[in-house]
Amino acid sequence: MNGTIQRSVRILASVLVIALAVAAAPGPRPAPAVPAVVLLTMDGVRWDYPQREALPAFSSMAAAGWTARRLTPPFPSLTFPSHSTLATGASPARHGIVANNFLDRASGRRFSDEREASWLEVPPLWALAERAGLKAAVRSWPCSQGAWNGTAPSFFQGYDGDARDGETVSWILGLLHRPAPDRPRLIMAWTRGADHAGHGEGPDSEGVRKAMREADRLLAGLRAGIAALGPSTPVDLLVVSDHGMAPVNRMVDVVKVIPKAGYYPFIATSGPLCNVYVKTEAQRRAVAASLGRLPQGILSMTRAEVEKRFGYGGDRMGDFVLLCPPGATFASFSRKGDRDVPRGMHGYDPSLPDMGGIFYAEGPQFPSGKTLAEVRAADIAPTVCAVLRIPPPPSAAGRNLLVGSP
Ligand SMILES: [Zn+2]
Repeated sequence: MNGTIQRSVRILASVLVIALAVAAAPGPRPAPAVPAVVLLTMDGVRWDYPQREALPAFSSMAAAGWTARRLTPPFPSLTFPSHSTLATGASPARHGIVANNFLDRASGRRFSDEREASWLEVPPLWALAERAGLKAAVRSWPCSQGAWNGTAPSFFQGYDGDARDGETVSWILGLLHRPAPDRPRLIMAWTRGADHAGHGEGPDSEGVRKAMREADRLLAGLRAGIAALGPSTPVDLLVVSDHGMAPVNRMVDVVKVIPKAGYYPFIATSGPLCNVYVKTEAQRRAVAASLGRLPQGILSMTRAEVEKRFGYGGDRMGDFVLLCPPGATFASFSRKGDRDVPRGMHGYDPSLPDMGGIFYAEGPQFPSGKTLAEVRAADIAPTVCAVLRIPPPPSAAGRNLLVGSP
């Protein structure tokens, strides 16, 4: 035995003696396990993506916990409205994020993928948790920046276009490793999922398959990290997406159809959805007269019609709402380069099969082997509140899945 090894053995022996002494010493009993909820979204992961090839983390999570055949997004099935429904349990008509692009008539402000939580008209989960005395953590979630009516999450990381999803998983696991008094009870995070690949290459592309293999590796890392925490840190993990994806092959230029003179009629397109705002009766008549020139298959609805058909509403929706059928989308003017025809799009009628998203859950509250036929995006927030044992969101349109699920 050389000197180095002898030294190592002596150090190991003394560590062992100290450890045994600590274990034997009378002292305060360990604090009871404090459960945490992690709500992770994977953008644009359609309900059937995880089943198209072997993805071990997704199948293992389905076997270990609960899954649903599909998660039905709200109308419109767009990223900002759907994430806001996931966070509040309310419909876009109620939480106020009625599209990715819209006009707030009251203030005259235009919403275009805005990040500030102040746009939400009802409280998000992180504010409900903080107000109930529980620490919340939020990362990259749409409409989560800044305080909501004076309440901000204890831990926050804003959207960073360059950040990788692996960093998000490390951030979540870092928070779960904090000592109990500082450990957040609610962690909500957005990840890229397969949205970018779905838009650029289409839902049936190799690009989406590659993105799903990456999402599976990400999920494997998160689940392994949670398992390694041990029984002192029980975690309920929910993995959902905000919408699915439909193939697209044509673009409709709505500005060529609707007569524009200055700021109004104000036209706000979000994928296949278009809100048209008018200020005068003359504009209303001119827009109504022009809608007959839209290509066949596009639904043009008045406020009353869209409310009745899709439960859409609120002050922020347009006077006219136009919706493309799957296969078509409106040209967008918000960002350079968006005039190229995408290969995939969402935002359509949420009941269409291609608009369905994913739902997976595991942990103490979601024991093995349950398959639900359908969950709605609006069910997630009331369910998370139930797991946290705090009152449900005041404007929730969904149900707590822990009670009376089929
Ligand atoms: Zn999305």
